[in-house]
Amino acid sequence: MERVALLRTSGRRLLHRCRRPRPVVHAAASSAPRRPSSSSSFSSRNYAGLPGGARLLTTAAPLHCAGRYWPAAAPRLVRRLSAPAVSTSPSPVPHDTDDVHEYAALLGFEKVSEQSIDECKSTAVLYKHKKTGAEVMSVSNDDENKVFGIVFRTPPKNSTGIPHILEHSVLCGSRKYPLKEPFVELLKGSLHTFLNAFTYPDRTCYPVASTNAKDFYNLVDVYLDAVFFPRCVEDFQTFQQEGWHYELDNPEEEISYKGVVFNEMKGVYSQPDNIMGRVSQQALFPENTYGVDSGGDPNEIPKLTFEEFKEFHSNYYHPSNARIWFYGDDNPKERLRILSEYLDQFEASPAPNESKVWPQRLFKEPVRIVEKYPAGQEGDLKKKYMVCINWLLSEEPLDVETELTLGFLDHLLLGTPASPLRRILLESGLGDAIVGGGVEDELLQPQFSIGLKGVSEDNIQKVEELVMQTLKNLSEEGFAPEAVEASMNTIEFALRENNTGSFPRGLSLMLRSIGKWIYDMDPFEPLKYERPLQHLKARIAAEGSKAVFSPLLEKFILNNAHRATVEMQPDPEKASRDEAAEKEILKQVKSSMTPEDLAELARATKELKDKQETPDPPEALKAVPCLSLQDIPKEPIHVPIEVGEINGVKVLQHDLFTNDVVYSEIVFDMSPLKKDHLQLLPLFCQSLLEMGTKDMDFVQLNQLIGRKTGGISVYPFTSSIKGKEDPLTHIIVRGKSMATRVEDLFNLIYCILQDVQFTEQQRFKQFVCQSKARMENRLRGSGHGIAASRMDAKLNAAGWIGEQMGGISYLEYLRDLETKIDQDWDKISSALEEMRQSLFRKDGCLVNITSDWKNLEKSNKHIAKFLDSLPSTTSVGSDPWLYRLPSVNEAIVVPTQVNYVGKAGNLYQSGYQLNGSAYVISKHISTTWLWDRVRVSGGAYGGFCDFDTHSGVFSYLSYRDPNLLKTLEVYDETAKFLRELEMDDDALTKAIIGTIGDVDSYQLPDAKGYSSLMRYLLGITEEERQQRREEILSTSLKDFKEFADVVETIKDNGVVVAVASPEDVEAANKENPLFSDIKKCL
Ligand SMILES: [Zn+2]
Repeated sequence: MERVALLRTSGRRLLHRCRRPRPVVHAAASSAPRRPSSSSSFSSRNYAGLPGGARLLTTAAPLHCAGRYWPAAAPRLVRRLSAPAVSTSPSPVPHDTDDVHEYAALLGFEKVSEQSIDECKSTAVLYKHKKTGAEVMSVSNDDENKVFGIVFRTPPKNSTGIPHILEHSVLCGSRKYPLKEPFVELLKGSLHTFLNAFTYPDRTCYPVASTNAKDFYNLVDVYLDAVFFPRCVEDFQTFQQEGWHYELDNPEEEISYKGVVFNEMKGVYSQPDNIMGRVSQQALFPENTYGVDSGGDPNEIPKLTFEEFKEFHSNYYHPSNARIWFYGDDNPKERLRILSEYLDQFEASPAPNESKVWPQRLFKEPVRIVEKYPAGQEGDLKKKYMVCINWLLSEEPLDVETELTLGFLDHLLLGTPASPLRRILLESGLGDAIVGGGVEDELLQPQFSIGLKGVSEDNIQKVEELVMQTLKNLSEEGFAPEAVEASMNTIEFALRENNTGSFPRGLSLMLRSIGKWIYDMDPFEPLKYERPLQHLKARIAAEGSKAVFSPLLEKFILNNAHRATVEMQPDPEKASRDEAAEKEILKQVKSSMTPEDLAELARATKELKDKQETPDPPEALKAVPCLSLQDIPKEPIHVPIEVGEINGVKVLQHDLFTNDVVYSEIVFDMSPLKKDHLQLLPLFCQSLLEMGTKDMDFVQLNQLIGRKTGGISVYPFTSSIKGKEDPLTHIIVRGKSMATRVEDLFNLIYCILQDVQFTEQQRFKQFVCQSKARMENRLRGSGHGIAASRMDAKLNAAGWIGEQMGGISYLEYLRDLETKIDQDWDKISSALEEMRQSLFRKDGCLVNITSDWKNLEKSNKHIAKFLDSLPSTTSVGSDPWLYRLPSVNEAIVVPTQVNYVGKAGNLYQSGYQLNGSAYVISKHISTTWLWDRVRVSGGAYGGFCDFDTHSGVFSYLSYRDPNLLKTLEVYDETAKFLRELEMDDDALTKAIIGTIGDVDSYQLPDAKGYSSLMRYLLGITEEERQQRREEILSTSLKDFKEFADVVETIKDNGVVVAVASPEDVEAANKENPLFSDIKKCL
């Protein structure tokens, strides 16, 4: 059955999503343009691409989409390629037979069960590989976005991060693919729609996806070889690079720690929300594997030895301990054939017993934990406490029905801003924002967590009492029938729409199935939600919701003694204390070494660096299979668009199959807005969705939206337009509903835009506090996004507008606004009203709508009625905002152990004319030069560049970076790298194919309609798309060399923004007085 609870933030705090700090999706003229640069009020909770809203989105999208403005829906190829499935190597295939089960038996697979899953229109067969016991789920349907995944149970015994380091390391070369990083070669040169790996607290997951069968089997083969025959178990240097090592360039200097995972986890351990998540989990599970950190504690990682690392691999990365998933429209026989080649090389092992996860026994008494977290000096520290109450719900795994009901309960309590527990906590004014993800059921035993951050010291106890009292009241009084209906509709809509955004549907199903399968339970059940859902609905109808939900609240929460309350206290000294402690340890290490040891360490450091910086020989690179240019369609993906008019307003229609869902965007011109009101805009958008009307309070309005639609959101959108000085500025209202509910959808949109009253001062204050908390969190966790938006603001007008509504300027504005609300409320309230009057008019409005032609036609009359109801007076547009921030180098100081370093320049201003080759070149710079220097040898978690082809801004960025000046040096040497670059035809083809893979990325129908709208707004024609594509396909080495001069201008005239620790900024400025502006932000 469907585990609704899986559809929420659950995995977020548990997962280490490792390989790519951000999705490689280009703002390609030929593909999906950028997301609004400020989306702080884009409440994806109300309109997520995913089942049930934003809480779901995070779970189902393990890619670390940290910051920046890429569209969540990453597009991709929808046409079928002619290439037949091709095996990657000869194999001992038994005599072919038409019957797949007979064929399976010949290959040594025993069929355990076969079921048809109506919910996803699939047939699923579970096989067991007889010799090793490996289990295989083979799901067949007509989805061209094929998915493969292999999952091992990998419960750790300590916090040295073995599973996480291994997850990184196995992708660094294998028996059949003996190069430094086959994973990166796949990133560069495949058409993958998904490529990543993730570590959970008790398992490690390796998924890939592609729409091209040949490409798909290539990816599968590389991944299988990587997990079973990785080089890292013989190669100490890979362990050092990905895990940890001492670095010493010269015996006179200090020793430091380096390692990709080491720095990744330092970043994680610098973020209060992450610390809260980890401490809470560990408090709930003191006795089993969840009591340690599979990701690795930076203090413990250096205790890990190479021997333990190897042993972990040989114990757990074994077919007997593996669960393997195939999904899509490819040939099920081919799947088994590829697998048997690998599995047959092993004998059965005792791993399944050793990797069993044992349950935590329930406490007799609640516990309380107090921890410190690194805080900055800014603001009132007394108000920066956090508190979270956590429950372990059960000793045994729950039955499906109970789990589904708990998922509903969770949505009722916390799913929307109107949900009582969320609303009451925020309205109490006791804290700024919610912490804790509600019900989490991705591990063996389910948990429930809830709390607040931004709490003052004296209010900690009040928060605890309020949580308990609210839950008690809800259990006694039950939920409003409208609330139950709204949750039911939201969840059902999400299940049927099955909109997983950029995340392949097959992967979302796999993660759902594996949540039970991994504990030896039935892998089919999590896929079949229909029957338990109907049963639950019938129960609610017959017995009433109170009879269904109150006993759950009592049993699992109110009367459950297994409760861990975690209080976190801000400690402004902690970051520097940790830093000093690390220095002290390293000093002792150094003093224990003889001069010979030190010389040896310096030699080893150099040897590792040399190895990291030496490119793979072309022969080795050839081992990784790649498509040829013949496999690539010559034309861009076509999205149907018809431009018409209804009542004088332009309407774009996209005739696409959407399973009877209608997706709509209404676009308004932002330019009539007064400049003074710009920074209020995100809060204005939130107010539209979260305040009431004359007839309904906001709870009722929200429930109505939940009952009638699939969600509505409102947000500002800004972008540069290539070749124009004036930026594009709009407000977009997005909504979706079933085709039968389109009238309701437009009525509700009208209600939000015209009837909502801006009178709720206290709610508005909450919005400000929440936004402030969210911005502060972004500053620590996605500092590269903050740096990027700051650089954009220095380099172009659209960037300036975006930064005003989503960057440091916005954070400063929010802090100021918070203090003014009480005395200035009347002014603010009338400003909001004035904004509405100037923004929502018929003139300058545009409607975009996506569904099949039948539904499009039926929608027209509702659109006409809606447009007629809008005021049609013409408004006077203000002058375009052509502002910029001063173009000076800037350091933004935050309490962190790792930095985010950026440098950018505007290439159009230095005379560059866009050519499609720039996409290929910038991707190559990211995946080769920056990956090798910033990540591999620099030890940062990530380093990449981005070229915004609309504005011309080219930026370099690093992510969780131990360096600062060194990284800037790498950026400055990019031109040199390009000039000296050697590339044979194979490497060039790979770079081109990988770029096409990004440009053509897979899109569900709503994302296609949205991309087409964006292209329309940005004035990108089909001819231009075709031209860029041809330029991409014909990119030559000469283009790379010529681009060297273009990026050289950034070296000389670029602007630098770093989000970094005070120590590193001070040290950097001592060496080179680079930063004239230093801003303390936390
Ligand atoms: Zn990682």
